Amino acid sequence: MPYQHILVAVDLTEECDPVVTRAQKLAKASGAKMSLVHIVEPMAMAFGGDVPMDLSMLQQQQFEQARERLDSFTGKYPELTADQRHLAYGQPRQEIHRLAEEQGCDLIVVGSHGRHGLALLLGSTANDVLHGAPCDVLAVRLKKGEKGA
Ligand code: AMP
Repeated sequence: MPYQHILVAVDLTEECDPVVTRAQKLAKASGAKMSLVHIVEPMAMAFGGDVPMDLSMLQQQQFEQARERLDSFTGKYPELTADQRHLAYGQPRQEIHRLAEEQGCDLIVVGSHGRHGLALLLGSTANDVLHGAPCDVLAVRLKKGEKGA
């Protein structure tokens, strides 16, 4: 059964270009729709969730900057229409799963660094997304310095 709707998750760095390219190729081969998502992580999360000050203004700015970065990133993929580009706020795993369910996606595509040692113990977004995913997950191996797939 070919995939029907592929969701590609990006951290908006150039490193994600091969991930998008792979998702695009898969979508073309399957005749599937492709959507792209970036998740803005709450600042409090970076500080362990316990910050004794109001971060709402900073978070609003963070979200607006992320929208500009998303627009600039997706400028490279003009075939992605506005309804195929998503920006969400929260924990990447949770939000990627939520969006995949909401949009009826049957494949999530993420990048994977294939970490070793301590980083492997700490986990990665790809690992995280795999657990409890509502559909198939493809982890595209990111090689150092690679810019296209
Ligand atoms: P990481 O393990 O955080 O280096 O990220 C590996 C992959 O997870 C990236 O190549 C993206 O596909 C995805 N990813 C990481 N951070 C985000 C984010 N904030 N929003 C959406 N996808 C992300």
